[in-house]
Amino acid sequence: MNLIALPAFTDNYIWLLHDGVDALVVDPGDAEPVQTALQRDGLRLQAILVTHHHADHTGGVEALRQATGAPVWGPARERMPEPVTRLNGGDRLRALGLDFEVIDVPGHTAGHIAFYCPAVDGTPLLFCGDTLFSGGCGRLFEGTPAQMLASLDSLAALPGATRVCCTHEYTLSNLRFALAVEPDNVPLIKHYTDCLALRNQQRPTLPSTLTLERQINPFLRSRLPALIKAAQTFDAHATDEVSVFAALRQWKNQF
Ligand code: ZN
Ligand code: FE
Repeated sequence: MNLIALPAFTDNYIWLLHDGVDALVVDPGDAEPVQTALQRDGLRLQAILVTHHHADHTGGVEALRQATGAPVWGPARERMPEPVTRLNGGDRLRALGLDFEVIDVPGHTAGHIAFYCPAVDGTPLLFCGDTLFSGGCGRLFEGTPAQMLASLDSLAALPGATRVCCTHEYTLSNLRFALAVEPDNVPLIKHYTDCLALRNQQRPTLPSTLTLERQINPFLRSRLPALIKAAQTFDAHATDEVSVFAALRQWKNQF
C-alpha cells in the first residue's frame, strides 16, 4: 500500500492510500489535487472518508463523487454532502480490502470521527482529521476540554507503532509551543530539529507515530507533573486534569 499526503490549500493534507490500482482518500477539501494524483497513477477511487464537516475537509467530496462514483463515509451527526453512509464510534467499514474501525473523537467539532485500521502492510494506521496533530491538537470549536481530553485518550491508547495521519502541517508551530511548555524534553528538541530539516526541503513532517507523540505532544502529556507545573504558570487555578488540559489549550491559542 502507498500512503501519500497530497498538499492542499496552505497547510492541509489530503491522505491518499492506494495499492497501485484502487485508492481511497480522506478529507478531500479540494478535488483537484486528488484527481491529478488519480490520473497520474491510473488509480480508481473506491472510497471517500470524511472526519468532520469543515469545508477544508469536505469541499472536494461532491466533485470526486461525480467524477468517480466513489461512495462516501462520514460522521453520523454532522452536516455532510449527501448521500453519505453515516458512522458512529464502534462502526466498521471495509475499503481496499482493509477493515477500518470508527472512533468517536468529539472536541474540534461535536461529531468528529477518526478511522483506524489495525494493519496496513502490518502496521496500524490512523486518520484523525483535526483531533490529534503532531505536537498538538485541534482547536475546540464545538466541544469541551473534557471531551477533547477523552478523545485524545482514546487515540493515545492505540498501539505505539500506529502511523498518525493528521490533516494539517502545523507541526513546527506546535513544536515551538511544546518547547515553551517543556524546554528540557530531549526527544522534543530532537524532533523539532528533524522537522525543521524536513520543512526546509518542503517535505511533510507526517505521518507521525503514537510512540513519538506520547514523547513530544503536550496534549498527550498533560497529566505529567512537569506539564501540570507549566500549565499553572499560565493559569494558577489549573489543578484537576481537565482544567490543566484546558489551560494548555488556552495557552496555545494565545501563543
Ligand atoms: Zn477542522
Ligand atoms: Fe481542518
